[in-house]
Amino acid sequence: MKKLLVLILLVATASYGTAQNLRGSYPVYNGKDLGLTYSPAAATFKIWAPTATAATLNLFKSDIGGNAIRSISMNKGENGVWQITVPENLKNSYYTFQVNIDNAWSEEVVDPYAKACGTNGLRAQVIDLKETNPVGWEKDKSPNFSVSNKQTDAVIYELHVRDASIHASSGIKNKGKFLGLAEVGTKNSAGQSTGLSHIKELGVTHVHLLPFYDYNSVDETKSAVQYNWGYDPVNYNIPEGSYSTNPSDGKVRIKELKELIKTMHSNGLRIIMDVVYNHTALTKNSNFNILVPDYYYRKRADGSFSDASSCGNETASDNAMFQKFMIESVVYWVNEYHIDGFRFDLMGIHDIETMNLISDTLHKIKPSIVLYGEGWTSSSSPLPEEKRALKKNAAQLNGIAVFSDDMRDGIKGSVFNIDDRGFATGNIGNSESVKFGIVAAGKHPQINYSKVNYSKEPYTAGPAGLINYADCHDNNILWDKIALSFKEASVAERTKMHELAYAIVLTAQGASFLHAGTEFLRTKNGVENSFDKGDIVNGIDWDLKTKNNTSYQFIKNLVQIRRAHPAFRLQTAAQIATHINFENSQPAGIIAYTINGAAVGDTWKKIWVAYNGSLSPQTLTLPRGTWKVGLSSNGSSKLD
Ligand code: CA
Repeated sequence: MKKLLVLILLVATASYGTAQNLRGSYPVYNGKDLGLTYSPAAATFKIWAPTATAATLNLFKSDIGGNAIRSISMNKGENGVWQITVPENLKNSYYTFQVNIDNAWSEEVVDPYAKACGTNGLRAQVIDLKETNPVGWEKDKSPNFSVSNKQTDAVIYELHVRDASIHASSGIKNKGKFLGLAEVGTKNSAGQSTGLSHIKELGVTHVHLLPFYDYNSVDETKSAVQYNWGYDPVNYNIPEGSYSTNPSDGKVRIKELKELIKTMHSNGLRIIMDVVYNHTALTKNSNFNILVPDYYYRKRADGSFSDASSCGNETASDNAMFQKFMIESVVYWVNEYHIDGFRFDLMGIHDIETMNLISDTLHKIKPSIVLYGEGWTSSSSPLPEEKRALKKNAAQLNGIAVFSDDMRDGIKGSVFNIDDRGFATGNIGNSESVKFGIVAAGKHPQINYSKVNYSKEPYTAGPAGLINYADCHDNNILWDKIALSFKEASVAERTKMHELAYAIVLTAQGASFLHAGTEFLRTKNGVENSFDKGDIVNGIDWDLKTKNNTSYQFIKNLVQIRRAHPAFRLQTAAQIATHINFENSQPAGIIAYTINGAAVGDTWKKIWVAYNGSLSPQTLTLPRGTWKVGLSSNGSSKLD
């Protein structure tokens, strides 16, 4: 089953809108000063708790244990706000709030707008943010990632902070920490680069980090032995403590994360933050729900919490004060941490209006921001489908892309059926799904939409609306999926299948997305959804880079070709419909097409791309002309 897999040949050379408040009886507070406003002379605290009849600020010396050193009654302000100004320097104190609702005092809650906290996020902290800036932070600048910094130019590398460094082969000192990923010049046992230096060498443009806001599942006092992906948010505006060298002092995690971001930027990489505003780790006893019971969450007709996240609740972005929270949160991360993009988990839970307000607001601050999300939910939501940021409504999203599950499963088979195969594993019946991904899920005259696996019509307004990928942190990693669905294939054959899968992703239109380590055939040993499965399953074995160096070089070449050639990064649906031409005369199992590079100023005037999804070698007929090999998986070297 030796396969001709891929050939690339060429000829010659704001102001926030106000969502309707579904619980219209609550006043909406429009000020942008909720939470703490600090100066050495005074600290002002504000919380929104419109149903409370009293509120208290508790001040503490330490982040865990001990009683409050003072409890201070707060004053009723406008539009449901409770506030207090303490005219002294409270720097480094910790604080919580309590509210009185229906004649009962609540348990202590952490300020949802808090920007610093102690261990496990149990108490917020008063800090001077200026003290968290590493040396040179004021000069930190996001690097350009192409001539025009368009979303379609992004080649995104999805990585978990701890996975990057925890394996012995990483050669990294600060294992599992922000600072570990900030180490440069680290090497595996064969002397090849690892961690950040490896990512730079691979040539991607953006590092998308799995959640690094403060999440719930890892006990920060025992983080050396605990593992989680972190999709269980607690404090949205604070970095996770287990990735810092000292979770107790709120300044440390902030400073160390900024150090990482600064190092990424100075190494030519941008950073994308994985955000999970769609649910909170706790439901009834979350900070939000204690302050304003039921307001921040959607409920079912019977009064129970609806649960489109399958994690116990779903937030209500269609309610004004949560919409406001989301917008202010992402703006804060961009302004304070210089974040370059966001990936929205279960974006289909959020309403389209909120997502577009986020996009408009962020694009004004940082025009080159990269935004995308999962255009689906995990379970059903009471919010009508036409209002939600679902894949089928993607054309209504301005400047926010959705993941293509059509392409993902077209390439390798359904993630929900382990035996299912895709185009890259010999199931040539998925050809049309792959072609649909190649044209970035837009309108193209040569796509037979009725044969696409999931979507039966185009859903993007243009290639900036799509993220093409073969695998991500969810489900089986690609190498394992191929092995599990095609047990009879040899390792050499699976390697070719893997390379074909990534060749498709990296030559398709729309932004490209790689899961960390797949460029050298990373395995999780068949463990699916390894969110809490520990370091042995999840830690990246950097020695695989040496073992599978041929695949690594091939995928690296693909990344570099993509970045060098705008023909693979067309910017409009019209360009794709006009300049990509599929060849219908090729044998079954072959997808072949030309891109008119000259039309978009590419130095490769005409590009011919072919993928062989059949399980046997094929002889193909090239269009007329004199061609040069750009890249082939059969060992040809790359041509720039
Ligand atoms: Ca935490």
